[in-house]
Amino acid sequence: MPTIRQLPPSVVNKIAAGEVIERPASVVKELVENSLDAGSRRVDVTVEQGGTELIRVVDDGCGVAPEQLELALASHATSKIIDADDLFRVATLGFRGEALASIAAVSRLTFRSRPVDAPLATELEVVGGAAEPLRPTGGPCGTTVEVRNLFFNTPVRQKFLRTTQTEMGHLTEALTRLALAHPHVHFTLNHGGRLIHDLPPGDARQRIAALLGQDLADSLISIESAEDDISLQGFVANPTHSRPNNRLQYLFLNGRFIRDRSLQHALGEAYRGLLLTGRFPVCFLHLQMPAAAVDVNVHPTKLEVRFQDGGRVYSQLLGTLRTKFLSTDLIARASSPS
Ligand code: ADP
Ligand code: MG
Repeated sequence: MPTIRQLPPSVVNKIAAGEVIERPASVVKELVENSLDAGSRRVDVTVEQGGTELIRVVDDGCGVAPEQLELALASHATSKIIDADDLFRVATLGFRGEALASIAAVSRLTFRSRPVDAPLATELEVVGGAAEPLRPTGGPCGTTVEVRNLFFNTPVRQKFLRTTQTEMGHLTEALTRLALAHPHVHFTLNHGGRLIHDLPPGDARQRIAALLGQDLADSLISIESAEDDISLQGFVANPTHSRPNNRLQYLFLNGRFIRDRSLQHALGEAYRGLLLTGRFPVCFLHLQMPAAAVDVNVHPTKLEVRFQDGGRVYSQLLGTLRTKFLSTDLIARASSPS
């Protein structure tokens, strides 16, 4: 008869990391989400070798008090929810208290933080889940997290890493989603000493222009509707800017990028007859609804969500777009040299 044992935290964290941390892009997503939750106005991301050697995220957010640093890196430790009821009113991007512990379990992680009122920063280094003693150090207000040698102690994971170029593609996409959702935050991305993106704070259309080009930004049709407690706003592109795939369909729910087949279907329906087969619409749409109307806790990375009333969201999206298209002369817009 085999003996049953409770797994030690180091193993539990490695297993959890497998769910949340798939590749360098996942680390960037989790770290930048933390920076945004901390109220940062500026977030600088620096990476080496597609993020496999180094990912550094520097923010000017609220920081973490020295006596809380070890807790920040512990699993199931969060400042964002207190009890199970809070799960139904989450207003932050994070709440699982798992990201930092997971990343620290599979990398060499340094967390350096200085709250606004503190004279010094404090640094905590964790190597493969084992924490070194806290160290006072210099540094600006805010938080800097450095993640080196991702998956150095999980060779199987390391084998799944792709070329620098592929990892960079995923990483840039992760940052693009966050930057589109937060146009008022200044973001930079550096890779191997080269500045890939410098996105100064602006409005939603300026952010789209900075990321995807002025031409696309100029063709956007603005969308706005509110029905009961669901509001929808953002942009869809003129049919002439359609794409051969659905990768430029950006849907955000309460500030979080989501993938939702049903809403993608609604989008396709709205454009029916306006696009040739094999062409896909482009959109940047933000849905806001009460946190209680949607469960974001169905997927470890929160990419998929479950709506309480998916049908209502579907018909609001489809109805809003149809009404807009009827009142907009798309053909005239398409041929006007804007
Ligand atoms: P979660 O975001 O789900 O709470 P994390 O493991 O990502 O879990 O972070 C744990 C805690 O560490 C957060 O709840 C927050 O209090 C603190 N923290 C992490 N990153 C930052 C940051 N950049 N600035 C301020 N606090 C942070
Ligand atoms: Mg987090």
